[in-house]
Amino acid sequence: MTDDKRGTPAEQGEPPTVALNPGDVAEPGTTGTGEDVCRECHGTGRIASGPCPNCGGTGKVIKAIGGA
Ligand SMILES: [Zn+2]
Repeated sequence: MTDDKRGTPAEQGEPPTVALNPGDVAEPGTTGTGEDVCRECHGTGRIASGPCPNCGGTGKVIKAIGGA
């Protein structure tokens, strides 16, 4: 039997997603989340000697908002 699945098993059933940074809790636009200044780089997108790994150099992260 042939199987034309492509990619890695981890991709099965996963919706297309944007690349999230470590500081993000969800994709931009996700209900109940919003942008916030990255607390690692304080919005600069950079730390000591390079791009901030927490926000990926954007200076912003996606975090949960509201009391849900
Ligand atoms: Zn950052």
